[in-house]
Amino acid sequence: MAETIPSFIKVRNGRVITPFRVIPNGCVIIKDRTIIEVSEGDPETPGAVTIDAGGKYISPGFIDIHVHGGGGADFMDNTVEAFLTVAETHARFGTTALFPTTLTGSTEDIVKTLETYNEAYPKNNSGAQFMGMHLEGPYLAMSQRGAQDPRYIRDPDPKEYEYILSKSGSIKRWSAAPELKGAIPFARYVKSKGILVALAHTDAIYEEVIEAYENGYTLATHLYSAMSGVTRRNARRYAGVVESAFLIDEMDVEIIADGVHLPAPLLQLICKIKGCDKIALITDAIRAAAMPPGESVIGNIHTGIKVIVEDGVSKLPDRSSFAGSVATADRLVRTMTQMAGISLPDAVRMITHTPATIMDIADRKGSLAAGKDADIIIFDENITVHATMVHGKIIYQNDSRL
Ligand SMILES: [Zn+2]
Repeated sequence: MAETIPSFIKVRNGRVITPFRVIPNGCVIIKDRTIIEVSEGDPETPGAVTIDAGGKYISPGFIDIHVHGGGGADFMDNTVEAFLTVAETHARFGTTALFPTTLTGSTEDIVKTLETYNEAYPKNNSGAQFMGMHLEGPYLAMSQRGAQDPRYIRDPDPKEYEYILSKSGSIKRWSAAPELKGAIPFARYVKSKGILVALAHTDAIYEEVIEAYENGYTLATHLYSAMSGVTRRNARRYAGVVESAFLIDEMDVEIIADGVHLPAPLLQLICKIKGCDKIALITDAIRAAAMPPGESVIGNIHTGIKVIVEDGVSKLPDRSSFAGSVATADRLVRTMTQMAGISLPDAVRMITHTPATIMDIADRKGSLAAGKDADIIIFDENITVHATMVHGKIIYQNDSRL
């Protein structure tokens, strides 16, 4: 890896996933950190540094819009080192852009994490790019808390959220339960700041979800996990958030495609109903991602909740609930192709172009096309990542011949 970034680069001899098609023998040409050409064959590029993909796949970098940690660090640790560790860890598995995600916490904890984001941002030279913060909670339904710490779960309070928003310009997404008292004015306010509002950890029924949708909640956070399905009240059946997300065509959904949270038939059902343009694959990874199994902590290393990692997933110690995942992005693509039988371009699209569109960064990210940032990865048949390039700079490679 060169210390200075060459300004003119050709990545050649690969199967280019744009992700709208696969170019069997293609190349991507980069100038000044930006893609200038995607084409078939191997055009002459005098003066360019050449990277030979050796017949492997050349793909847009993965975009993870919901991730808490990895490599032994959690964003809620509130240190610059933790932020950089998570970014570098996920870059090894193909993530080139991510949205650091918080858990429920005190106002001070949340504001501190936002401040740490600002400190870490300019120091992140060798990890997945930070694209802005995702606040998950603290305005969640107690009955659907999952692994969120119940001590900090509360209803939206304008004094609090206006204060939090006044402290940071980096919040890009906020996940909340729409049925809570004050959750509709909350969404209107947050949306007015240009922030995506998502439905999360919620027991809402359809009537509440449609009102929520009309007021800014346009994405369902980890579909099926910590949310209502069909319920019965006094013998009557009610559609829950899952059915509502299916019924409202415009609603985007994200799924933890680690192969554990959702079995193959549900992954297939979601793809069948929503289509790959409305689905983002997410890791929802905690600090235990890319670490050996055993005990871990979700959230802040000192004050977080103890969890146990076994069978490729994180669980509460009584094993009553999953507690985030230990997935990395490569595993999500592997799950969708190998377990759910989804085509590779569609699987890649769900973790590149679709999340970029949902987060409104598709003008720069999420596809290989002229004018886009040179966020490019090289992986093999088994979705093992061999090289990761962020903005034209190789930040990870496992093959010295590249
Ligand atoms: Zn989460």
